[in-house]
Amino acid sequence: MIDSLEMESEHMERTFLMVKPDGVQRGLIGRIISRFEDKGFTLVACKVVQVTENQAKIHYAEHDGKDFFPNLVNFITSGPVVAMVWEGDDIIALSRIVNGKTNVNEAQPGSIRGDFAAHTPKNLIHGSDSPESSKREIANFFEDHELVNYDKIISSWI
Ligand code: UDP
Ligand code: MG
Repeated sequence: MIDSLEMESEHMERTFLMVKPDGVQRGLIGRIISRFEDKGFTLVACKVVQVTENQAKIHYAEHDGKDFFPNLVNFITSGPVVAMVWEGDDIIALSRIVNGKTNVNEAQPGSIRGDFAAHTPKNLIHGSDSPESSKREIANFFEDHELVNYDKIISSWI
């Protein structure tokens, strides 16, 4: 029966998701991780990290030169974060929908930012925006051997 539900995964991707310092301080780690588990994604790596200034500048390289860049680097290095790699079909785009819009005034209820964030810089969660960013961001926080390959038995039901 389950065999008939098996699909060849054509869009399997990995993305870098990070609970930002505000999420850690507010005790929202578990609830944020639950959103991605609820969606059916697979957690392949996870650790608590104090982001260094150098790592922050690599992570947010595309924003270098923008007016909010110095504040952003300050914010992301202001306390520990939870750095994660998650896997799933089309996860890069789908996880950004789970996260909600960057600007909290536009973030929909039901999204992490829509439900929990009240100020734009402190918007709780980071998600890669493209396969290229995801590669760079994962390499900035993880060694290859820290990423675990496994299947979940319920994958064919998702
Ligand atoms: N940010 C900000 N002011 C802005 C735009 C972005 O403080 O006008 C912060 C915010 O924390 C955001 C991060 O910079 O999450 C990175 O911005 P990006 O546009 O990449 O948004 P994201 O990909 O996180 O939705
Ligand atoms: Mg971004």
